[in-house]
Amino acid sequence: MRSSYDTPSVITIPRRGLMLVLSSPSGAGKSTIARNLLESDPTFALSVSVTTRKKRASEIEGVHYHFVTPAEFERLRSSDALLEWAEVHGNLYGTPREPAELAMRAGRDMLFDIDWQGARQLQEKAKADIVSVFILPPSMQELKARLLRRAEDSRDTIATRMKNAKLEIERWSDYDYVVVNDDLDRAFQAVRSIVAAERLRRDRRPGLFDFVSSLLSEEGEGLAVGTSETVR
Ligand code: ADP
Ligand code: 5GP
Repeated sequence: MRSSYDTPSVITIPRRGLMLVLSSPSGAGKSTIARNLLESDPTFALSVSVTTRKKRASEIEGVHYHFVTPAEFERLRSSDALLEWAEVHGNLYGTPREPAELAMRAGRDMLFDIDWQGARQLQEKAKADIVSVFILPPSMQELKARLLRRAEDSRDTIATRMKNAKLEIERWSDYDYVVVNDDLDRAFQAVRSIVAAERLRRDRRPGLFDFVSSLLSEEGEGLAVGTSETVR
């Protein structure tokens, strides 16, 4: 659980961590938004998934993914080491259980860049802690243009991802929030606003009970207000 309100100048009410799930069709910009969020808000920890997909040129083992063989993935899956897993665009992806559970127990906020199948599994396991955001592209043309501009996948891979994009977009209504990523800055600010509001939810802040009782039990000189004079 996060800090306390015993410093006189900054009042921070202890709260539970939240699990922010970002999903989108490939190329809509969720990894870019996730990266900006992690850079601007160090309270977030990123859940680094395991995958059987081939590493892209720009990716680093252990930072973007843990790249594993299908046999290693199967070993993790069958030993219950994955909190959720799914097949996406012909590859296997999964969320390692231990880091996510440790971070949540420590009251940290956790960011998950996972698809709709994974989002659904997390919703079933930790409904109260999940905040889910679906990122939409401004148009299918622009989605394709972004996948081509990213220039990290083969033409065949991009074709598969475009074919799957419509099926993924159809899941938009499973999510708590939907953000259209036309202008990156605006989309990023929208996600930040969602996070700021969700952190303030009453049911995520058990520390409010103690804070309110300390407010109500506060005594001292100058608290009483006379009734005979007008208070301005
Ligand atoms: P995803 O993680 O959803 O597959 P990425 O974050 O990798 O998508 O973004 C795909 C490409 O589109 C990247 O090259 C990224 O720089 C670019 N991009 C992201 N958001 C925008 C935007 N609002 N306008 C233009 N290009 C964008
Ligand atoms: P990419 O290959 O572009 O990195 O990711 C392809 C898709 O797999 C994206 O929709 C991404 O969110 C999803 N994905 C990445 N990691 C996981 C994971 O651990 N679980 C699930 N269910 N999906 C994931």
